[in-house]
Amino acid sequence: DTTHGAILYLDDITVSFDGFKALNALSMSISAGELRCIIGPNGAGKTTMMDVITGKTKPDSGRVYFGSTIDLLRMRENDIASSGVGRKFQKPTVFERLTVFENLELALKAERGVGAAMRFRLSGEQRDRIDSTLELIHLQGSADRVAGLLSHGQKQWLEIGMLLIQDPQLLLLDEPVAGMTDEETERTAELFLSLEGSHSLVVVEHDMTFIHALTAGDPAKKVTVLHEGSVLAEGSLADVQANEQVVEVYLGR
Ligand code: ADP
Repeated sequence: DTTHGAILYLDDITVSFDGFKALNALSMSISAGELRCIIGPNGAGKTTMMDVITGKTKPDSGRVYFGSTIDLLRMRENDIASSGVGRKFQKPTVFERLTVFENLELALKAERGVGAAMRFRLSGEQRDRIDSTLELIHLQGSADRVAGLLSHGQKQWLEIGMLLIQDPQLLLLDEPVAGMTDEETERTAELFLSLEGSHSLVVVEHDMTFIHALTAGDPAKKVTVLHEGSVLAEGSLADVQANEQVVEVYLGR
């Protein structure tokens, strides 16, 4: 086992676009149950990295393993998603005309296909799962509201709930608190911290207040800094913030 028990293992990944290396020999390893924050200036390769993990972009070279045995580079995007890798893009994509409850119901039954989904009645167990998800995403009072009427932050939570209800092992989140109020950002940090341990999370984020809340001064929690397609620094938030190269990259010197 060369992946050392990691839930996600990226080894020497290079992605070129017309000769330009968006990822340049990127290697990174995420442990099961870990919450990893990824930061880096625009163009660092964060989105490309997520695209490689989810199968949207196939790299020129390198290896990507999910768990110790699943070679993600051999799989198609849809198969990666259904094998337990959930991705949340920056913009929320909920069904605006359906209620919060119906959105979660559809996500839960998604394996059967959207058309067939509504013909099956919910089992008691499924209903419980929707209820506990509603509680987790702070929307228990809004189950019957039409999703289009939710605030931006609530839509983001609903979409996270739609991912969670499919029981992914690994969640990839792209700037999850962009556009949220301070209070929503704080509650999102609480939500992610409650998922840590039972899920593995990779969070790409610019909001340093949020990263601070997620790492909460815990030196054991790693933050990875990407720059020019590879890892510039990795360590506790305090360590990477004190790293001279990181400071230079952010000051644009
Ligand atoms: P980040 O998400 O960190 O801002 P990206 O992964 O989006 O960075 O982009 C990394 C670099 O690769 C950027 O310079 C970007 O312009 C380039 N890039 C990304 N996707 C493409 C593409 N499809 N074609 C050409 N260049 C791309």
